[in-house]
Amino acid sequence: MIENLNPVSRAIYPWQKAVWEQFDLERLPQAILLHGQAGIGKLDFALELAQAVLCEADLFSTGTKPCKECQACRWFETANHPDLISLVPPLYRHKLPHAELEGMPKQEVDEPEEKEEGDAKKESSFIKVEQVRLAIDSMNVGAHRGGKRVVLIYPLEGLRTEAANTLLKSLEEPNEQTVFILLSDHLDRVLPTIRSRCQLIALPKPTREDGLQWLQTHLGSLAEQKISLEEIEATFDEQGGAPLAAREIILSRRLDDDKDSMALASSATRILLEAMSKGKEIPWIDCAEKIHKAPFGVLLACMQRWLFDIQSAYQIGELRYYRRHEKHLQALARQANQARLLKLWKSVLLARRHENHPLSTRVQMESLLLQYQQLFGD
Ligand SMILES: [Zn+2]
Repeated sequence: MIENLNPVSRAIYPWQKAVWEQFDLERLPQAILLHGQAGIGKLDFALELAQAVLCEADLFSTGTKPCKECQACRWFETANHPDLISLVPPLYRHKLPHAELEGMPKQEVDEPEEKEEGDAKKESSFIKVEQVRLAIDSMNVGAHRGGKRVVLIYPLEGLRTEAANTLLKSLEEPNEQTVFILLSDHLDRVLPTIRSRCQLIALPKPTREDGLQWLQTHLGSLAEQKISLEEIEATFDEQGGAPLAAREIILSRRLDDDKDSMALASSATRILLEAMSKGKEIPWIDCAEKIHKAPFGVLLACMQRWLFDIQSAYQIGELRYYRRHEKHLQALARQANQARLLKLWKSVLLARRHENHPLSTRVQMESLLLQYQQLFGD
């Protein structure tokens, strides 16, 4: 039977529970090498472990570490703990819960990854040797809080020869105050000389069933609305059963979808406004054809504001929404048939109420734009 040395903390994933419980925080080795497949939550585990090492609560009274309440824990959570040194290359920075964990300049942290190509991208996946030296140097100064100091390195493969040798030197000369928490997605790429100086701990991944269940729960409301079970399963399997990797991919796909539909909405709105400013000459079929793929609600809202402005220009001579189209709107207000305007206004309202109705957007848009054209008829 495994002795439960360390009760499970809130942030530990269910599939890591057994490993976490075996840690004796009072007797940690000088260097721990956590290894396992990418995307299974190793970094979260490592951060939790780092926080537990730095936590200043009395284990016997709190029963669990990190307590998340002591001064040290609060510093840790706000990325201000002076005794946590994390070496993470720019490419992986977004995986940290707080991007400025070790006070790196923000621009380096926020460097957009998609703009990096070739060498720059490759470079950003490595930890600079100067960073390692700085970390090692700072270890010779006593820990700020008088307790332990943690050096967290992720991923270990991000150290090139020179940086790895610098790390190796400090692993060879143990410093009792310092705990190294090293992470690797590919244990076979880690220098044997480094490996041999660490306690190796393999972090498992969940079973397929547990992993899928976790994934569904942690996609939140997204899972109910837009993501099919098939997509969840397919992505999970593509990622070799790594739930966090699957989650990141699914969420980034949604983000792209949102970006796409926002871009689509903004160009459709521009086309619609330009068409409506032509009044009687509105190329309504052509316009409906060009904009019908944009979200219907956005199109209707745009049309509604436009009609409001025509009405408002007619009644009080002022606009509320589209002041940059003032010239057109004032002219249209003079031409529009007010009874038909009211009728169209009601049609748009009605369409908005049923905007999720499966009727084709193009057909509905054509009908509304034709009505719009007739505002300016004889
Ligand atoms: Zn604490």
